[in-house]
Amino acid sequence: MQGRLTVLGWHNVESSWCFPLPPGGARGLRRQLLALRGAARVVPLTEALDVLAAGGSPSPRTVALTFDDGYRDNLRLAVPLLEELELPATFFLVPGLLSREVRAWWEVAGWAFARCRRATLSWRGATYDLRTPEQRRHAYGQVSERLKGCDRRGRDAAVGELVSTLRPEGDPGDRDMFLDWDGAREIVGRGFAVGSHSAYHAILSRETPADQERDLRRSRDELEERLQTPATVLAYPNGTARDYNGHTLAAAAAAGHRHALTTVDGRNGPATPPLQLRRYVVTPVTGRSPARALARRLLSRARRAAGRPARP
Ligand SMILES: [Zn+2]
Repeated sequence: MQGRLTVLGWHNVESSWCFPLPPGGARGLRRQLLALRGAARVVPLTEALDVLAAGGSPSPRTVALTFDDGYRDNLRLAVPLLEELELPATFFLVPGLLSREVRAWWEVAGWAFARCRRATLSWRGATYDLRTPEQRRHAYGQVSERLKGCDRRGRDAAVGELVSTLRPEGDPGDRDMFLDWDGAREIVGRGFAVGSHSAYHAILSRETPADQERDLRRSRDELEERLQTPATVLAYPNGTARDYNGHTLAAAAAAGHRHALTTVDGRNGPATPPLQLRRYVVTPVTGRSPARALARRLLSRARRAAGRPARP
């Protein structure tokens, strides 16, 4: 029986400025991983991609687990859980963040909105209400969508501008939020795979073709050299269909990537373009979530296949 490969993608396990989560992220992740372990065949990503590259179909219920951006809680919370449950995973890392050469603009901007005391923000022709936490979150969502339309330098400048206008309290703590090279080495040393998530987390389609090519070559080379492990798979930053283009696919191929992951929903078979693989982005919530819904669906299919009645 032929199956398709489902790739799941997490980011942070616990709450961050940009991705606030209810308390109990590690508990939520544990439940999701337990459900997946019971229902799916969780394999190393590259193993499943090799099957696709050879023109084959993965076994039914094949799932690969991934984590993007290199949040420090991936090592502190996700790695021990994965080890306990004996599940493989791939961590997509950003050399510029590991080196502290760039900052995670999305977290800095998230902090600026969460911790500002202004009632409104007028920014580049639009006015946003900031009186309540809900309004600040809504404003952040709208502004961050606009920021994603800029190239990397323009976006960094705009975030600086927003921080000086909003004058948030305290410190974003973004430098402590992400792994450094030692942390990345520990992930590799504990037997997990890594992949490239670009050199600076630029949204690639906003960059020139030459910059995209330089970025992806540098990212892969630096990860492989400093971590002494293959980084054959790429995950596009942000990863929606607007965030990569034809030049990105060419740059990915020029950097030697045979496979690249998007964040476009869907599963993967032999006909899926290898540089535009589909992936479900999931968050470690304790309630209903796409990962648990998927696990339930897989479990029910497995029970039917085994001739046992499915639980409702
Ligand atoms: Zn990312």
